[in-house]
Amino acid sequence: MQSCRLCTSVRYTDEKLSGCNSLPGSATLNSIVQILIPLLVGFLITQISTLTTSAYLHRALAHKAVRFHPALALFLRFFLWLTTGVKSREWAAVHRKHHAFTDEESDPHSPAQLGWIRVQLTNFWLYRNAANDPVTVQKWGRDLAPDRWDRVLFDRGMLGLGTSTLLLCIWLGWWQGVLAFSFHVVSYVVLSGAVNAVGHTFGRRPFANSATNLHWLAALTSGEGYHNNHHGLPTSARFGSRPLDLDAAWWLIKVAEKMRLAEVRDVSAKKVTL
Ligand SMILES: [Zn+2]
Ligand SMILES: [Zn+2]
Repeated sequence: MQSCRLCTSVRYTDEKLSGCNSLPGSATLNSIVQILIPLLVGFLITQISTLTTSAYLHRALAHKAVRFHPALALFLRFFLWLTTGVKSREWAAVHRKHHAFTDEESDPHSPAQLGWIRVQLTNFWLYRNAANDPVTVQKWGRDLAPDRWDRVLFDRGMLGLGTSTLLLCIWLGWWQGVLAFSFHVVSYVVLSGAVNAVGHTFGRRPFANSATNLHWLAALTSGEGYHNNHHGLPTSARFGSRPLDLDAAWWLIKVAEKMRLAEVRDVSAKKVTL
């Protein structure tokens, strides 16, 4: 029994050479596919992560613009635990502080104070510095005390990340699983940084605040790219303002609302025409 030189997936014996029908280049194509599939899986995980981050962490928890049915909220929290390692009240507290001191000295991640490139490249550590400050979390997240689910599971972020990596390795193979999850982590960190850096520097400003609107960023972040609209109407569950705006988290909220799994508290952005 020998392995085919070109096609590692087909083995053949000297007697049955017809078992190998590889064409030149098939090994290269196979290698490319083996890399592209994990990257695609990682990208899809990032897209669902930004969707749940925007819908649950941002719009529901930090701004209370929408209230999800407890069963749906638990599902969203579970996915965030698996894919982000974020402690929800820390995220909400840091974000509320950003709104309170937008582009002032106390803003945890201000491009006006630090430069957009520095915020883009170091957003993860800027966030961690703010989240590790117990005064910030206590002051801005005092209504978000950890519940039983947080204490038992969701506050154990590394356990969630390890679990999802293991599941991906079982599904795709060990190195493909590690590649998929690594690509997701990098994409999630880069896109989160882009909202705070690019989304306060480049783009349209229909409202009088320092944030900006960018369609391409909104498309990649489930609507977070309409950051100027959001700073203008922070308690609105809708970040887009026009029918064709790419506000995926708003679409999720509307579907959940139709299924009686969400209650939208403020849709004032609907009345805004820009
Ligand atoms: Zn902002
Ligand atoms: Zn916000």
